[in-house]
Amino acid sequence: MALREDQIVRYSRQILLREVGGRGQEALLAGTVRVDGIGVSGLTVAAYLAGGGTPVAGAGSLTLGPWAPGFLMAPSDVGLPLTEALAREVPALNPDAAATGPGGGLVAELPAAWSGDAPWVALGGDGMRAAVVFRSAEGCVWCFGETVRHLGSPPDGALGVAAGTLGALVFQRLRLGLGPALGGRWLVPPGVVEALEPRRCARCAAREAPSAP
Ligand SMILES: [Zn+2]
Repeated sequence: MALREDQIVRYSRQILLREVGGRGQEALLAGTVRVDGIGVSGLTVAAYLAGGGTPVAGAGSLTLGPWAPGFLMAPSDVGLPLTEALAREVPALNPDAAATGPGGGLVAELPAAWSGDAPWVALGGDGMRAAVVFRSAEGCVWCFGETVRHLGSPPDGALGVAAGTLGALVFQRLRLGLGPALGGRWLVPPGVVEALEPRRCARCAAREAPSAP
């Protein structure tokens, strides 16, 4: 898919980054990412990915609460299912981001059900910190599951916005084929990013353990 002139203008800041480029921007524009989350971090990730050109569709059955209006949702979206609200607001924000074909990954606020194509990006927390956990198609599904199982829902407020922003960036990097296949980050108030070491599933742990003599 070649970029149109209006797309080159719209995404010029991203295209000029060495890690994105024209090819990378085409990867960001291809395939619909499903977003499952009605909190501040889920709506932030939807807005950032749509702004960057990635088609966005809602997943799950949750409806928007009174906290939802912001720079993506309007007051009239309150009470709508997320799927319906995103179908209305995402094309208004960026026509390129209107949901198209399947197969573009999943970003979800924890707790969530994980299925479908990678990349997967989980937005969670532990009551103090926000957490972002991710896997590419090469990352172990079970290690990812073991890691997110120990996390709670993501925080509200500024930390939730920061988690959503970081989640969008992580997702875009995975779309571009950058970064490790499995990983995570803690966001510690007021704004420090620390490594989150993913947990190992029993199978990967056994494979990594030194073999008995
Ligand atoms: Zn594993």
